[in-house]
Amino acid sequence: MESIPFFIASILLALISTPISGFPNLPPNITAGVWQPFKQFAGCHPGQQVDGLAGLKQYFHRFGYIPAPSSNFSDNFDDALESAIKTYQSNFNLNVTGTLDNSTVQQIVRPRCGVADIINGTSSMNSGKALSTLHTVAHYTFFPGSPQWPSSKTELTYAFSTTNQLFDSQVLSRVFTRAFARWSAVVPLTFTETSFYFGADLKIGFFSGDHGDGEPFDGVLGTLAHSFSPTDGRFHLDAAENWVAEGDVSSSEIDLESVAVHEIGHLLGLGHTSVEDAIMFPSISSGTKKVELVTDDILGIQLLYGSNPNYNGSATNSTPSSQERDMNDGRAVGPGLQWCAGVGFSLAVSVLLL
Ligand SMILES: [Zn+2]
Ligand SMILES: [Zn+2]
Repeated sequence: MESIPFFIASILLALISTPISGFPNLPPNITAGVWQPFKQFAGCHPGQQVDGLAGLKQYFHRFGYIPAPSSNFSDNFDDALESAIKTYQSNFNLNVTGTLDNSTVQQIVRPRCGVADIINGTSSMNSGKALSTLHTVAHYTFFPGSPQWPSSKTELTYAFSTTNQLFDSQVLSRVFTRAFARWSAVVPLTFTETSFYFGADLKIGFFSGDHGDGEPFDGVLGTLAHSFSPTDGRFHLDAAENWVAEGDVSSSEIDLESVAVHEIGHLLGLGHTSVEDAIMFPSISSGTKKVELVTDDILGIQLLYGSNPNYNGSATNSTPSSQERDMNDGRAVGPGLQWCAGVGFSLAVSVLLL
């Protein structure tokens, strides 16, 4: 008999704990995201000790802004955190204050690509560039060593994993056909879908949590996807996201095609850029669609592969000279740079969600 009141109490508890939201169709926690607790740090400044600040340091470590600690991170707002914040602010075009002002915190909590911004202490985004180059057009970057698909390999194949099939295969095909076409329009590469996953050059799939590559996904928002540099070919999407493949994108949804275009950039060898309009900017807003390459993306990818002969855009119509290539390599990739397992991408949620 004792189980009856317990049962009733459980129902009541469940009812009470049901999230009340202005968006009743949202899945649980979709408006929150895993980094939302960082909002409590708004206004914090150097010298303070704040409960949970160690978690923020872990975040900055994840994306390359703080080296691995000798033991555990402390909750102290120390010099290392201040330095990390300054570098992050520079990379994301924020005022470089070294404090956790509102605009910085708003950027931090936005979902992002899992690919790191800084490797071995060297940034390839704004903070890694000389001041004189900050206002130039080109901000695109490459992975360390500028890996790319060999010139003999211009016809790449891709396939989808059968793990976590979130979409009908025809829907996936349509989305990725469009996404790959963005890149094949500007460089002389072709992309063809194949059903043989393990034999494909590019392997695409949705995965949850720890999926065996050392870069576990973190649930709703946070990191949305990550990809590996050439010629690895792996492209992983977080199965926990509220993905939308076709049609209008609501403010709570992440547009799959937008993320696909960004991650394909990584698969081909591009790193992150500080140009906010570019596909290779680490963040993307939920509820928005961002699928068009901009000049920064096009200049970067054409430096690696040359131009598609049919491309008539204004960015460039020829393969850059070796001198240009060398100059770019020197600016974009510092010596000894290594992307963490090739992973790192940052997507941003709309202001509505923040
Ligand atoms: Zn992965
Ligand atoms: Zn990325």
